[in-house]
Amino acid sequence: MRSKRKGEVTPKVMEGRAGVGLPWLEGVAARFQEVWRSGYAPQAMLVIGARGVGKKQFADWVARRWVCRQGYEGGIAPCGVCPPCRWSEEGHPDRFWITPAEEEGVISIEAVRTATERLRVAAHGERRAVVIAPAEGLSRYAANALLKVLEEPPPGVLFVLVSEHLGRLLPTVVSRAQRWRVGVPDRATAVRWLRGACPQKGVEMEGEKIEQALALVGGGPLAAQEVLARGWLPWVERFVRDAGERVWREPVSVAVEWGKRVREEENGISWRVLFDWFQRWVADVCAVALGPQEGEVSLFFPYATELLRAAAGHRPIQEWFSLWERWRAWAQWLYHPLNGTIQGEALWLGYAGVEQERKG
Ligand SMILES: [Zn+2]
Repeated sequence: MRSKRKGEVTPKVMEGRAGVGLPWLEGVAARFQEVWRSGYAPQAMLVIGARGVGKKQFADWVARRWVCRQGYEGGIAPCGVCPPCRWSEEGHPDRFWITPAEEEGVISIEAVRTATERLRVAAHGERRAVVIAPAEGLSRYAANALLKVLEEPPPGVLFVLVSEHLGRLLPTVVSRAQRWRVGVPDRATAVRWLRGACPQKGVEMEGEKIEQALALVGGGPLAAQEVLARGWLPWVERFVRDAGERVWREPVSVAVEWGKRVREEENGISWRVLFDWFQRWVADVCAVALGPQEGEVSLFFPYATELLRAAAGHRPIQEWFSLWERWRAWAQWLYHPLNGTIQGEALWLGYAGVEQERKG
């Protein structure tokens, strides 16, 4: 069974005059406007940043703002009344997205060719925009086809590439695009926004839960919102207890339980979600095992230092680093279809070192 990619944030169709939408994006949006005003608007930009900081929302705003008939002098919000502002999200030749076919997570060369064809059709306005997200989804052939377009871009077309993994992009594509970083907002801004964004039947979300979710995802408010909205925190807590303590006593039962859980995608927890938690957990175990360090290391599981320390004690620090390295190398295969049961169980057994024991 192929798993669908979870946690994708699809930009909403903006009705009427709407700004950049997320408060912490206003700074970067204003900078874009300023660059445009100074006459240095790029032909291709690469929007980078951590997960859940609003890269797609920023790219969407750039595209809408760019095609609006009112130029840079019109303010952060597109005018909302000119024809390009009233186009629907899909299917207009002057402003569109290139995204992977959902199941494979890969942007094919055909998708890039179709887009190029659309750009050959006479433009309706003087400016057009193409958003490519995620840019690391471009197959090698697709990236090369795109490169050809970027080398001689049609006039007035702005390409907006969105990426979370800069290292996975073709360097020649990276060098053709102006880099725009969307930063993680400060905690107070993120917490304030999450309180408004996750109302739970009139009950105000506990600050502690918001902090836990933000820490887990490394500060991206949209990623934290997903954790909260899907009700993952109790599962994260169970994961923490299992990884910190239980798996060292009964590795096989823990592995089998989680294997079943991710196979059935209970509560939307796929093996990719589990793997993500695991990578962050092992990073924290390494940090804790290193002991007190200069400057403060921000942990993904700051409330679980006792359990992190307990886990760290189960093997030499070099082995923790080697596990972390091995999993980091695996991460690039995340979007390949895999058997959830085997993967879920293998993660736990590998984590607890059961495989090695069997081999030895
Ligand atoms: Zn407009």
